[in-house]
Amino acid sequence: MSYRTGATGLTRDLNRAAILRLIGLSGPIARTSIAGRLGLSPATVTSITRELIDSGIVRTADRAPSRGGRPALLLEIVSRSAHAFGVKVAPDHLVGVVVDLDGDVIEQYEERLDLSAAHGFDAAVGVLRSWLDAAAEGTPLLGVGLGVPGVVDSATGTVTSPLIGWRDFALREQLQQALGIPVLVDNDVNTLATSERLYGRGRDVEDFIALTLGRGVGLGIVANGDIYHGYGGGAGEFGHVTVVVDGPVCSCGKRGCLEAVVADPALVATARADGTIGKRQGIAALRRNADAGDADARAIYAEAATVLGRAVANLVNVLSPQLILVSGEGTQAWGHYEEAFAKALQAHVFPPLRGFTVEVDPWDDAKWAVGAASLVLRTTFTPLVDGTQHELAMRAWARPDAQATEVVA
Ligand SMILES: [Zn+2]
Repeated sequence: MSYRTGATGLTRDLNRAAILRLIGLSGPIARTSIAGRLGLSPATVTSITRELIDSGIVRTADRAPSRGGRPALLLEIVSRSAHAFGVKVAPDHLVGVVVDLDGDVIEQYEERLDLSAAHGFDAAVGVLRSWLDAAAEGTPLLGVGLGVPGVVDSATGTVTSPLIGWRDFALREQLQQALGIPVLVDNDVNTLATSERLYGRGRDVEDFIALTLGRGVGLGIVANGDIYHGYGGGAGEFGHVTVVVDGPVCSCGKRGCLEAVVADPALVATARADGTIGKRQGIAALRRNADAGDADARAIYAEAATVLGRAVANLVNVLSPQLILVSGEGTQAWGHYEEAFAKALQAHVFPPLRGFTVEVDPWDDAKWAVGAASLVLRTTFTPLVDGTQHELAMRAWARPDAQATEVVA
């Protein structure tokens, strides 16, 4: 990328970005506090914040009470001053959302398409283009975040997803070229954890895990306040820890993986084999039977819940999270997991680590897309994880006169 601005302009851009980030993270905040915390002169802060107020990005909030004298004016971000786009990428459909700076959903889109088909990626680009065109009208769009099932190197945006059929696919680079705006990519469960950290129950929790149940078993790890990616982005492949030696074959090629025993396809295979559901029926039928009180269907869930509870206990013993968030389409049947899961978890957690809580979410597809959008919002409000994308997103917001597309070299 290149900057078309001189040294002074660049310094001013950096100061503006730092001020915005501080107001976003700590606002409402007084100008004097901004100057003190960033080590800038009051004159610089006044000049830049006046500019930000004029362009509608920042506004004055309620006055702070003060001991004598005039109360200080507090500044806060105008949450509708910029938008971010988030996309949940699934093998057979895309869900997109436009969110404001508070993570509130403004628009939502959905499109079915087969990403693993011959021209699947081109079709997806076409869909994203039309969504972004509609979303970009009027308000600056900071960028697009994508949550993808698979191993994602979030530093490079390269994706390996057996579900979609991508191997070392340069998703970020390809999309950035095709769409001309900042693109951030991470594993889909990591995006969920990111949005919980920014806006949800993880806001005040430094160490938590997000566990997802459904077609597979996913895991996002937040350690010391940030997503733990591991080498090459592969951390969190909890679904592939071995729970049964020489057990059923997993989609990854190994045997006895957790997800080959407890994920929906495994439950369906067991239920079909023992006649609990018909040969052509799926997970919805199994859930219906369990809901109706069928003892065999309930036993299938209870067995899976026991294996899952034990595996999660092992995880707790390694990570010691304060909070465990459970979500994904599998939670529609959580009532049938609950008891056996809690019992196995309790039995296998190292006793001194039992101080955590477990929270279970109702199933919500759009929440994943909001998570993906929060990749963009996170790069806006927290110190750089990825320099280039961060700079592009900040410029799209703080310099509405300079389109993000124009600063890409
Ligand atoms: Zn596996």
